[in-house]
Amino acid sequence: MNSTPDRSTITSQRKNRSMCQHQPSCPTADSADREAALPVAYHPEQGWSLLCNGVLLFEDTGELLPNGTIIAPHRPVGPVVRAA
Ligand SMILES: [Zn+2]
Repeated sequence: MNSTPDRSTITSQRKNRSMCQHQPSCPTADSADREAALPVAYHPEQGWSLLCNGVLLFEDTGELLPNGTIIAPHRPVGPVVRAA
C-alpha cells in the first residue's frame, strides 16, 4: 500500500481543519453554503451571530467573512422576484 499522502492531500486537510471540533466539519467561509455552518455565538439583540467557520451572519442576511469580505444582504427567505 502507498501510505504516503501527496502534497495536495496535506494542503486540503490543513485548509479544512479550521476551528471545527466536530464532524462533519462546517463549510469553509469561502464556500457557497457557508451559512450552513454551526452558530457558535448568537446575539439576536445585536442582530448578528458568529458561525463556526468565522463568518459573521447578520439578521438581514448580510455577512462578514473572516478575510474581511462583506456580503450584501441577500434575504434567502421569501420569494425571489429579482429580474436580472
Ligand atoms: Zn464547525
